[in-house]
Amino acid sequence: MEIKAKENREVEVITDILCDSCGNSCKTKVDYEYMTLKADWGYGTKKDMERWNAHICEKCVDEKLSFIKFKKSDVDFQTVLGTDEEMEKKMNDYYLKYPKIEDGNTGTE
Ligand SMILES: [Zn+2]
Repeated sequence: MEIKAKENREVEVITDILCDSCGNSCKTKVDYEYMTLKADWGYGTKKDMERWNAHICEKCVDEKLSFIKFKKSDVDFQTVLGTDEEMEKKMNDYYLKYPKIEDGNTGTE
């Protein structure tokens, strides 16, 4: 195979997810865990047409957002992950978006 053209490109990669409240990493032993707060403000608000979002770590959720009555339920993995093919695609998409944590834990124990 003949290489006709090549170039060096700078690629931006997410290496960590920081809490938008305390600034600490949202990294756990095996993954990244955080709450996403999101709002698209609309007509009739003082924030009309503004889009807000934040990633909040578990500690800040527990300590600073405890006044919120969150609607809680168990995660249904079948609904979240779907068929084996859908699950594999989601896992691939996820690991392209977020880096694996290199701590020797394979998550298979
Ligand atoms: Zn935090």
